[in-house]
Order: sequence, then structure tokens, then C-alpha cells
Amino acid sequence: MVANKKVLMLPGDGIGPEVMGEVRRLIDWMDKRRSVTFDVTEDLVGGAAYEKHGAAISDDTMDVALNSDAVLFGAVGGPQWDNIGFDVRPEAGLLRLRKDLDLFANLRPAICFDALADASSLKRELVGGLDVLIVRELTGGVYFGEPRGIEDLPDGQRRGINTQVYTTEEIRRVCRVAFDLAKKRDNRVCSVEKMNVMESGLLWREEATWVHENEFSEVELSHMLADNCGMQLVRNPKQFDVIVTDNLFGDMLSDVASMLSGSLGMLPSASLGPEDESGRRRALYEPVHGSAPDIAGQGKANPLAMIQSYAMMLRYSFDMGEDADLVEQAVRNVLDAGLRTGDIMQDGMTLISCEQMGEAITAELDKQAA
Ligand code: NAD
Repeated sequence: MVANKKVLMLPGDGIGPEVMGEVRRLIDWMDKRRSVTFDVTEDLVGGAAYEKHGAAISDDTMDVALNSDAVLFGAVGGPQWDNIGFDVRPEAGLLRLRKDLDLFANLRPAICFDALADASSLKRELVGGLDVLIVRELTGGVYFGEPRGIEDLPDGQRRGINTQVYTTEEIRRVCRVAFDLAKKRDNRVCSVEKMNVMESGLLWREEATWVHENEFSEVELSHMLADNCGMQLVRNPKQFDVIVTDNLFGDMLSDVASMLSGSLGMLPSASLGPEDESGRRRALYEPVHGSAPDIAGQGKANPLAMIQSYAMMLRYSFDMGEDADLVEQAVRNVLDAGLRTGDIMQDGMTLISCEQMGEAITAELDKQAA
């Protein structure tokens, strides 16, 4: 089969290469068993790139990223790079990728596997079977708005300033992503802002409503204030299907939602950019967790967040929903069989390594494909 799916793999630092290794295993499996071939390039990012190039991502690597259909990103960072300049810090590699690929929509699913429901901070009946998708605007809002800074006042005090700012198109494009995704799910979007106290929130509500009325009237739209949404996420999270919100509220609400599903090692994410003329979207897939220097190199990392990020890539970049379903079902079966890495270990379960988890997933895939 012709290799036409260009993927840039950036394992990064710490446990990044370990969890990415298990995605490599799945890519090899897909190649052999389902004749799906990816054209994979592997490169450095984060501290690893800094050591070689003096930058958290090189211009050459950025060029490859810009010409790839999808980027798979592991994790970056570590204590050895804590005291270097902000512009060359490991995280700068991720920020540059987000900026140059214009990744404006961040997708964070909060899924609670039945087998892990007891590890959630909420009661099993509230979270069992939970499947919420939070779509966060990622390139605008208060984290980027101008003016910003800290200024000295004549009376000797200082004043910190950040500006929450959104334009029509910034709101509409992220809402379109949310409506589009809802159509493939339970067809419901809840748009979240603070229109009661913020003009930018009022504009957000008006524009979300505009996109709904003019382009997606077949999807159900509701609105909620961000503070209430935080409360509802811990009171009755299963009421939501897709939540769309701005950068700041999305940052907080997606972290709240992540605790519903148990462990950091289980949380995948995707960041999508605008569509080009051919309908292709730039995209980056990464686990929510960091480089976990405390367990790096010990075979203890849970690769399931990375593996589920790979499944998201299959679904959203390559329209391979069936293959994504296979991978996600394999994750569910392995958990149901009681296999656990240390971070999700429970009494009576079997403790396995990162590599063994990857092997267990491919063994499950073998069973499903048999
Ligand atoms: P972290 O997510 O790396 O780790 C937090 C805790 O969760 C640690 O105890 C770790 O062992 C555990 N953990 C995380 N992922 C795990 C997995 N897959 N399996 C098992 N256990 C897992 O966050 P941190 O400790 O705050 O940060 C460590 C480094 O990672 C820092 O340098 C930080 O800047 C960086 N970081 C990077 C990203 C990213 O690359 N996107 C995100 C967050 C933090």
C-alpha cells in the first residue's frame, strides 16, 4: 500500500520516549495486520532538542511538522532544564508547534472506563460510562490578549494587567469544530462563558448562537455560565456531551473534568488547526501528562494516554474511526482483564510495565482482528 499518511513523531523527554515506543508498536501492528502504512518521521523536541540544537525545536523540525498530516507528541521537560531561558525551555517547543500550526481547538475527552470508576474522585454511579468532550479555544483570550504586563503606579503600587479579547471569527471557528464533533457523538453542545460579567462572554454567546442558527441548527445547543459548569461537572458530569469554551475557562474546566476519570496516565488530547483547501487540518496529538521525571527510565509509565492520543489521530486526522474504535476497545478490554501500570494499580489487579501494557494492547488487537 502507498504510504501517504505523513506523521511526525516527537517523543521528547522523560517518559515521552517510553510511551511513544508503545505507539510505535501499534503503528507496526496496523502496518502488518490492517495494511495501514504511515510515513513516520521521528525527531527531537524539548530538552532533547535543546541539547542538540540549543532550541526546544529546530527550524528543520518545524518545517517537517508544517508538512505533516499529524504530529504525535510525547512530553517535554525535566529538572535539568529548569534554569535555562524561557525562549529555549523545553515547553517552548510545544508552544511554537501550537503557534506555527495555528492549533486553535484543543480537544480533551473525559472518559471514565468502568474498570477504573473506583479511582475517580466521584462516586462510581456519577462517573461510570462518562464520555464528555471539552473543546477549548487555545490560541486567543486572556493568555494572549494585549495589553499585558506589570506596571509601576505613581503611588508605589504595582498593577498586573491581562486582557481577555476575542473576535467573531476566533469564536466561530472553535464553535464549528465543537458542532462538527457533536454530530459524530450525542449531537449536543454546551457553550460556556461568563456573559453576566464579561463583554467578551456576551460576544461568545452571541457568536455561538449565530453559528448554531446559521450552520448547525440540527445540533442541540445550550449555554452555561463557567462557574456553574464547574459545579455541574462535579455534580452530574454525564449531562454533558460536548462543551465548548474559551482558553481560560477551558484550561480550568478540562482539568476539573480530568479528575473524573482517575489518572493523568489515562488522558489523551488533540489540538486542531484550520482546514486547508483540501479539507486537511493540521493537528497535534499528545497525552495530557508531562515527562514524569520521577519515574522516567524505570518502565513504570502508563502508555494508555499516549495510545489513546494515537487513536484520536486515527479518528480525527485520517477518518479511521473503525481502527480508532479497535484501539479504544483494546484499552477497555485490557483494563477489564485487570492489567494495571502503577499509577492505576488497585487491590487484586496485576501490576505490569509500560512495555507489557503495549504488548497487552497489541495482543488484544490480535484477538479482535482474528
Ligand atoms: P507530570 O504530568 O509529568 O507528572 C505528575 C505526576 O503524575 C508524577 O508523579 C508522575 O510520575 C505521574 N505521571 C504522569 N504521567 C504518568 C504516566 N503516563 N504514567 C504514570 N504516572 C504518570 O507533571 P509534573 O511532575 O508537574 O512535571 C514534570 C515535567 O513535565 C516538568 O518539567 C513539566 O514542565 C513537564 N510538563 C510537560 C508537559 C507537556 O509536555 N505537555 C505537561 C505538563 C508538565
